[in-house]
Amino acid sequence: MSDCLFCKILDGEIPADVIYESETALAFRDINPQAPTHVLIIPREHVSTINDLDEGHETLVGSLFSAAKQIAAQEGLADDGYRVVMNCNEGAGQSVFHIHLHLLGGRLFNWPPG
Ligand code: AMP
Repeated sequence: MSDCLFCKILDGEIPADVIYESETALAFRDINPQAPTHVLIIPREHVSTINDLDEGHETLVGSLFSAAKQIAAQEGLADDGYRVVMNCNEGAGQSVFHIHLHLLGGRLFNWPPG
């Protein structure tokens, strides 16, 4: 998608602090971190929201969680714990319409979330 910020990061048109790459996913540090570790994990394929996923995306979505597990270990978060969030549409706080997992760690998190 030519007007998608995360597609531009995937294409190298916009710089990002990339910390993980696989065949299906890319992860980079959030520009406005909400925790000591705040990483975004995105699929290489453009999918706008969770609502646009179908059965064909199951492996792709699984790969985002595999990346989260690996990055959490890399960042030293696995034992203390971390949060993984995907917002869907404006009401939940989605502002970039290319699905992404937020991986947050390094502080305590409240439940329920705000
Ligand atoms: P969401 O609000 O769930 O769609 O999350 C979008 C996230 O993208 C926010 O946490 C932003 O801080 C982050 N973000 C926006 N632009 C960039 C960028 N150029 N590089 C890294 N993170 C970004």
